[in-house]
Amino acid sequence: MILPILLYGNKKLRKKNIKIYNNKNIIKIINNMFDTMYFYKGIGLAAPQIGKNINLFIIGIKNIKITVINPKIIKYSKKNIISKEGCLSLPNIYEKIVRKENILVKYYDYKWKKHIKKLYNILSIIFQHEYDHINGKLLIDYLSKKKKNKIKKKLNLLY
Ligand SMILES: [Zn+2]
Repeated sequence: MILPILLYGNKKLRKKNIKIYNNKNIIKIINNMFDTMYFYKGIGLAAPQIGKNINLFIIGIKNIKITVINPKIIKYSKKNIISKEGCLSLPNIYEKIVRKENILVKYYDYKWKKHIKKLYNILSIIFQHEYDHINGKLLIDYLSKKKKNKIKKKLNLLY
């Protein structure tokens, strides 16, 4: 099922998200999130973006499909990587964001299998972007005040 995506300005995008415990509803939410992400041509989607304030996000790029539950970034590389990022909650906005080139992460998948692994480049970037979402942070928060104001004007046109 394709769900509506919450846009910038919605308070749910800024709320604290809660830890998930094993329950059957999660699979339904995950399936709906994948339907929604693919429909809107995203490469990642976090639960708060569909109005669920829980520690869950998904990644889908090329043939890679990852469900991330209760994640933690354990270690960040010193090396940075810069790329233009977009966000389904900030339509038509693409900005250069500095991220860490690789990260060591811990999370559970939809089968509740625990993963500890290192992610590089694009996967590292998407993971950090979605991890921000479940911490109530958006890519706009990384920008200078001047740039933020410019974007806010653009975003106001959405309403
Ligand atoms: Zn986003």
